[in-house]
Amino acid sequence: MTTTPAVYDKSSSFVEIRRTHPEHASVHARIEALGERMESVGATDYRSAIVREACQELLAPDAARFALRDFVIDEISRLEDEELERYLFYRFRYEVFPVEHRLDDFPPLLQIEPTSICNFRCVFCYQTDTAYTNPKNGHMGLMSLELFKRVVDEAEGRCEAVTLASRGEPTLHKQFSEMVDYLAGKFLAIKINTNASMLDEAKCHAILGAGVQTLVFSADAASEPLYSRLRVRGDLEQVLGNVRLFHDIREKHYPHSRTITRVSGVKFSDEQDLDEMEGFWRDLVDQVALVKYNPWENTYEQPVNQIDSPCSEYWRRAFVLWDGTMNPCDTDYKATLTPGNVKDGSVSAIWRGERYETLRRLHLARKRRGVEPCSRCTVV
Ligand code: SF4
Repeated sequence: MTTTPAVYDKSSSFVEIRRTHPEHASVHARIEALGERMESVGATDYRSAIVREACQELLAPDAARFALRDFVIDEISRLEDEELERYLFYRFRYEVFPVEHRLDDFPPLLQIEPTSICNFRCVFCYQTDTAYTNPKNGHMGLMSLELFKRVVDEAEGRCEAVTLASRGEPTLHKQFSEMVDYLAGKFLAIKINTNASMLDEAKCHAILGAGVQTLVFSADAASEPLYSRLRVRGDLEQVLGNVRLFHDIREKHYPHSRTITRVSGVKFSDEQDLDEMEGFWRDLVDQVALVKYNPWENTYEQPVNQIDSPCSEYWRRAFVLWDGTMNPCDTDYKATLTPGNVKDGSVSAIWRGERYETLRRLHLARKRRGVEPCSRCTVV
């Protein structure tokens, strides 16, 4: 029997985000100035054409395709004028390409997985699936620094957004700081997701020194026992201490840091209270948010549904897992959809390769019910 659950709209994962400080007027004026400059020089190449399209859209009075949300304006506020062009190139492709099913030779966002291993067993996470965590099944491992550098080298100049996160806890990797160092100066939108349990001084300095744009601390509650019921094996006091450590190092050693810190939880239980979370974390981080829950913990056991809209992940981002496996998403946490391995070909070649294009065609033809596990997934 098929069911029709609510779709998970990836165009915004937030249930709510608080404490952004958008400077609408000044950002608008800067986009206006950039738009005028782009008009006067014309679109001389692909990149300029995209930025020009982005400016035109943002400055149009009835623009519907590309509107900057508050947290994006917050990000832009921290950029220099000469970086705005690069940022809009990324953001337009990230937001508009998945809606219009446009593609070029590189994913708008690349997610790199330093490790698939995690020290937590959060109730809504694939780490609770022992078929995934059992080392005998081949899903557990750590990316070599050599492979990491190869992927980063390919992405530099072709992609502005790199996230260190996927199925595992990135700070568990012994070479985490070296990886972060290697990203420095190469991308505008570097993001790291961490459960904050393993943060120490060296990692804090690496993150701040590399100019990471967004550091997300994953925490879903402001008190016990709710925190530990959701973040199984987590210790709220320890996490609080590490978030404070990061805050203090930023204040003391990096007073002009552009890094935005966010505590972000998965909205899983009616007991979670964003007001309480905001009050608890407000002195230590810039933003507090809750994101939508997706049943990551048992993707493959969900019933087949009747959703037939294409999944935006095929146009928005690509994952490179610890062993080089590329995948369109982490909802398919066993990477059964994999279109290839970067040890056998480049990210770019796989992104536009036959397997990826076949999956896209099936989704566009509204035949995702014939693709496992897309048939059981609600992401659009
Ligand atoms: S399983 Fe399929 S439909 Fe779900 S997020 Fe991944 S690619 Fe999209």
